[in-house]
Amino acid sequence: MIEKRQFYIDGAWVDPVSGTDHQVINPTNEEPCAVISMAGQTDTDAAVAAAKTAFASWMQTPVTERVGYVEKLRDIYEARGEEMAQAISLEMGAPIDMARSQQVGAGTWHMSALIKAAGEFDWIEPLGDHAPNDRIIHEAVGVVSMITPWNWPMNQISLKVIAGLIAGCTMVLKPSEESPLSAMLFAEMVDEAGLPPGVFNLINGDGAGAGTALTGHPDVDMVSFTGSSRAGKLISKNAADTLKRVSLELGGKGANLIFADADEKAVKRGVLHCMNNTGQSCNAPTRMLVQRDVYDEAVETAADLAAKVTVGPASEEGRHIGPVVNEVQFNKIQDLIQKGIDEGARLVAGGTGRPDGLNRGFFVKPTVFADVTNDMTIAREEIFGPVLSIIPFETEEEGLQLANDTPYGLTNYVQTTDPARANRAARALRSGMVEMNGQGRGLGSPFGGMKQSGNGREGGKWGLEDFLEVKAVSGWT
Ligand code: NAD
Repeated sequence: MIEKRQFYIDGAWVDPVSGTDHQVINPTNEEPCAVISMAGQTDTDAAVAAAKTAFASWMQTPVTERVGYVEKLRDIYEARGEEMAQAISLEMGAPIDMARSQQVGAGTWHMSALIKAAGEFDWIEPLGDHAPNDRIIHEAVGVVSMITPWNWPMNQISLKVIAGLIAGCTMVLKPSEESPLSAMLFAEMVDEAGLPPGVFNLINGDGAGAGTALTGHPDVDMVSFTGSSRAGKLISKNAADTLKRVSLELGGKGANLIFADADEKAVKRGVLHCMNNTGQSCNAPTRMLVQRDVYDEAVETAADLAAKVTVGPASEEGRHIGPVVNEVQFNKIQDLIQKGIDEGARLVAGGTGRPDGLNRGFFVKPTVFADVTNDMTIAREEIFGPVLSIIPFETEEEGLQLANDTPYGLTNYVQTTDPARANRAARALRSGMVEMNGQGRGLGSPFGGMKQSGNGREGGKWGLEDFLEVKAVSGWT
């Protein structure tokens, strides 16, 4: 069993002062694979104090120098990619091939986008010819508590840490207690890159402990949070007493609008995207809205495809999907599948119970429901498992109305070969992102949501702005 009880504070690995032990469970076999320490108040205070002390000089360090550290960190991250893939696969169950390409790859992608954005960003910009002596200075917010989930660990950590570092912020990262190993490996890489002590700090812990301490701490200027809408609400309240800036990246219940004129691969793409990472993605297209003319065909295609999606251990090579992260999630997904059946949705693939031959581990059957209505629990709640709900619609207006009828607003998807309809839909959908016809987001495109999916934007220049204050200076010479 891996023992990793230390925290990274003020440029060194230190023993916890007030921590308690926590076991990390391998979701493939339900056995403990690591023990970490959960920080208490004294450890949290030490990490915040280190970040506070380091801020004065880091914010004044020239941007080019800060970017230089980040470039070095990206090189180390790439060189140690295999170690990172193994850590992610072990702790949260991503199949190793997928961990290498997508999980680790996402970190590299965001680092590159943020480095590019830093070079193009107008750090001191003129107001305009009408006010020649005015300048707008973009400078760091201050000490940031960064709190991340387990589902795409390096995706989220890189988006926050790299943007924060380039912006001139100092930080305390608290990764999910489900995925601390990848975050601690990342901290080793930061150490190897030689960042000044105190700029980046890492403590472990859960939401009730270190999470709450970090988001209410009087010496923290900003909270950057990715996780559930439930925790986002608690964090906003906790941060309100000290009026911190709070940037939230929360849950989603994405609609995938398949119009009758969609291309022939649209349904297949939608199913595979929904099942990717075992359905544990905030932007998963979990509600497939299909126009009536092509509905029966789409249901059949989706059911066939889901039945062919293979499920297996995270450590095995191949293109299968892995287990879900833990027992709580496993049980929640089972309950929601049962609720789908009880509320009258038509089960066309998968169902409750484990897939054949997988009696241990948090494995879930790839599941598809047809004839779902938008008021059913499976259409309203974020399931965070390999479960797709198919909902029919008649007209464009009805499809868009159903897509928007959700408390969430993260990503929606549109499949049509009619460009005018595609553009109308893009404008009508109330979500931070709209992806059309399988076209993925470009490098540096902002990631974030509307409504209860949050208020922040991560990635590219918008990701830098999340960590920057706007200072108006007049009389500049
Ligand atoms: P979670 O909200 O339970 O936990 C996320 C993180 O917050 C963990 O580090 C946890 O320890 C911490 N936390 C929990 N309660 C807290 C509290 N009261 N105060 C401070 N910290 C607290 O979410 P999860 O199960 O780890 O992750 C899955 C969720 O994350 C899903 O809802 C998913 O949609 C969302 N997510 C959103 C995005 C996005 O960019 N919008 C990306 C990935 C995941």
